[in-house]
Amino acid sequence: MSHSVTLPSTKDIIELERRHRLPGGQSMTDLAGIVVDRAVNAEVWDRDGKRYIDFFTGVGVSNIGHSHPAFLEQLTTQLSRCAVGTFYTDVRSRYFALLAAQLPEQLGEIHMFSTGSEAVEAAVKLARAATGKHEIVSFWGGFHGKTQGALSLHGGPRKHRSGPFPPGSHQVPYADCYHCPLQLEHPECGQRCVDLAEQSIENGSVGDLAAVIVEPVQGTNGNIIPPEGYLRRLRQLADRHGALLILDEVITGFGRTGALFAFEHDPGIAPDVVVLGKAMASGVPASAIVSRSGLVEGTSFAVPSAAASTFGGNPLASAASLATLRVLLDERLPERAHELGKSVSDRLSAWREEFPFVGNADNIGLMIGVELMDPATRLPLPKGITRRLFQELMARGVLAMAYDSRIRLYPPLSIPTHHLEEGMAAFEGAFRAMAPVISRL
Ligand code: PMP
Repeated sequence: MSHSVTLPSTKDIIELERRHRLPGGQSMTDLAGIVVDRAVNAEVWDRDGKRYIDFFTGVGVSNIGHSHPAFLEQLTTQLSRCAVGTFYTDVRSRYFALLAAQLPEQLGEIHMFSTGSEAVEAAVKLARAATGKHEIVSFWGGFHGKTQGALSLHGGPRKHRSGPFPPGSHQVPYADCYHCPLQLEHPECGQRCVDLAEQSIENGSVGDLAAVIVEPVQGTNGNIIPPEGYLRRLRQLADRHGALLILDEVITGFGRTGALFAFEHDPGIAPDVVVLGKAMASGVPASAIVSRSGLVEGTSFAVPSAAASTFGGNPLASAASLATLRVLLDERLPERAHELGKSVSDRLSAWREEFPFVGNADNIGLMIGVELMDPATRLPLPKGITRRLFQELMARGVLAMAYDSRIRLYPPLSIPTHHLEEGMAAFEGAFRAMAPVISRL
């Protein structure tokens, strides 16, 4: 008697998931409509055997590329020994030492969590405990996660209809030069937006500022790169108010911008707290805050168990984080991101020349943002059009956050050059296919 096993089809799998799924998940899941089978470095295969170049990488999670052999080996070894946390482990001690060695000496204290949002919440709690004050300044267009506290820091419509939020949160303009809030030009502006932020704090705050939290490059807002010296100005602003400077490096960290951490691009900057996540453990949920030594001593944050969480820093997360950092350093992937970023910059200039609907297009390392606009009105391209562009890219075998007018690309830092080329060429093909449609708008 023969037993034939019928494997569920792509359609069956999607239908089964949708039947049980609570709405509100990542929009790209349904837009792509694929079932992922496996992934290696910058390539992803779906269940029907179609292969894609991955410029999405789970929103910048796979900096070392999918399924890196050293990562797999260390993770499976740890999995077979112990996965559950709480006690001291060799692997976490080695991770702390290696991470601390990459950071300025004063950033010596690390605590691990599981998600970026959780680490942001902890950073805010730390700032409140350390300063004894409660207000937090964040930025227009800034994004720090979707838990209630993190969402209260968001500077945009994502938080609409989700309140009320914890009190004491102020949003001030960011140095988004292409869309300057003051309609000035850099560098003649002298970064007037920082003065405006200061005025806004003077007028809106009750004089109890605990922290300024900022993304060194705004990821969710479209990979918006502020001008040189901006973070230094924010450091001074925080100091004037006796507030901590928290850098949210959840997206920018671990080599994405061509340095291990984005704040390294500005040698004059000394953050009090750095928030890490996403690429930290290459897909195993892990995040962290790293803080200036001694900040929380004797405060409510430091009470035993006060900052602990079930999965934070467990042996599996620690092994994944250690393996990831080792690969990043051994393979010099931040430097590689910087080098590849140069060729990306050239390509983006060519796009701005050739395609009238490409507006702001800029990159720092392999953190790449491309804004699409209606050439006649300079308004963002409508969703109907950008979603067609997304489908054009899928058809050409590229996965990318290209479904709205602010395209964000996060290829692995380990992407082979010819795969980067292939992906960028697919964009050009998709842009050319869409050009007649856009010109008829
Ligand atoms: N901070 C930044 C800068 C982020 O980009 C994100 C996620 N996009 C978060 C925090 C939240 O991270 P998570 O989704 O892991 O909670």
